[in-house]
Amino acid sequence: MTTDFAATRAMFHLPDGIIYLDGNSLGPLPRTAAARVAQVVEAEWGRMLITGWNKAGWMEQPSRVGNRIATLIGAEAGSVVMGDTLSIKVYQALAAAVEMNPSRRVILSDTGNFPSDLYMAEGLCRTLGDGYTLKTVAPEAVADHIDDTVAVTLLTEVDYRTGRKHDMAALTALAHDKGAITIWDLAHSAGALPVHLAACGADFAVGCTYKYLNSGPGGPAFIYVAPRHADRVRPALSGWLGHEAPFAFDLAYRPGGGIERMRVGTPPVLQMAALEAALDIWDAATIEDVRAACLALTDQFIAGVEAVCPTLTLATPRTHAQRGSQVSFRHAQGYAIMQAMIARGVIGDFRSPDILRFGFTPLFIGADDVARAIAILADVMQNDLWDRPEYKTRARVT
Ligand SMILES: *Cc1c(COP(=O)(O)O)cnc(C)c1O
Repeated sequence: MTTDFAATRAMFHLPDGIIYLDGNSLGPLPRTAAARVAQVVEAEWGRMLITGWNKAGWMEQPSRVGNRIATLIGAEAGSVVMGDTLSIKVYQALAAAVEMNPSRRVILSDTGNFPSDLYMAEGLCRTLGDGYTLKTVAPEAVADHIDDTVAVTLLTEVDYRTGRKHDMAALTALAHDKGAITIWDLAHSAGALPVHLAACGADFAVGCTYKYLNSGPGGPAFIYVAPRHADRVRPALSGWLGHEAPFAFDLAYRPGGGIERMRVGTPPVLQMAALEAALDIWDAATIEDVRAACLALTDQFIAGVEAVCPTLTLATPRTHAQRGSQVSFRHAQGYAIMQAMIARGVIGDFRSPDILRFGFTPLFIGADDVARAIAILADVMQNDLWDRPEYKTRARVT
């Protein structure tokens, strides 16, 4: 292992006394991000005003940053572009993918997928009419349902609730064998574990950056289109910055070359400055080391919790190859238990109906943190510390 995790931990601003096991939902603040954003605000926006689009390279930023993401997800240079939110990128990829497979009408997904991905697919089917349907099956049954009716598979590699991981290489190969196009959602993969989009032959991929890539709340999403498709796909969200020549202000839309056509409108320059600073951390870390360290931390957490909290039921697969970088346990009082943990400085989250979710990000979490989190969870469970009315009132965000 070449990564010095003490050094990467020092790159984050982590409040004293907090064990942050929620980097899978919102990554913490990289120390350099605040200064970088302040510098872009003052020196670029403040002094350059509109000339910043050229002078400070704001216009190239979505593909420049996209290339840095590409190296983390095994994608070819020039195949990833930033912008919008993940929900929008799901829609964009789906609309392009179904058009590439015009004789078929089924979008196949699974019941473990994040609801926004499914809602976007439903909305697209309604707009298209013409028999388009979203079919959802149990995650374990996906392979059995990829047949010659399926136009597109829309799968999230790592399940946001259970942490179960699909086999991207095998499902992509199967989908291609049956003539389907693949879309992979990497929300819980990018920055968490090695992804090999090009080697798997994936067609499309999408993901967000505010989780394991630490760009901050509202950070931009990314989209990948395999280079073999990039000049063929027809953008449904045909915004001006995806046009071949935005500043020609033509009345008719002509898609830009390659991945540039998946841009839509004005990029979030300030948020992308935070992301660029956050990505510098990867100069000091490899994704392979992060994965190896994460598996050790999650093994430690599973074994430790099962030894002292018999009423919690593991929801995450034990097999390394079948899980991402979070560990989830089920308990009917999951919400109150998590609130009691947060009150004691261990931050994870709760996903309805009964999932306690803990994310393990070795960039800033170590074995000592895991040991302390286990001890605090044991105290909460063994002494029923969760059983207080204030821990049972649901907040807007859980
Ligand atoms: C986090 C997440 C989203 C969130 O989408 P936004 O548009 O960024 O709010 C969508 N899909 C999956 C699979 C996620 O994990």
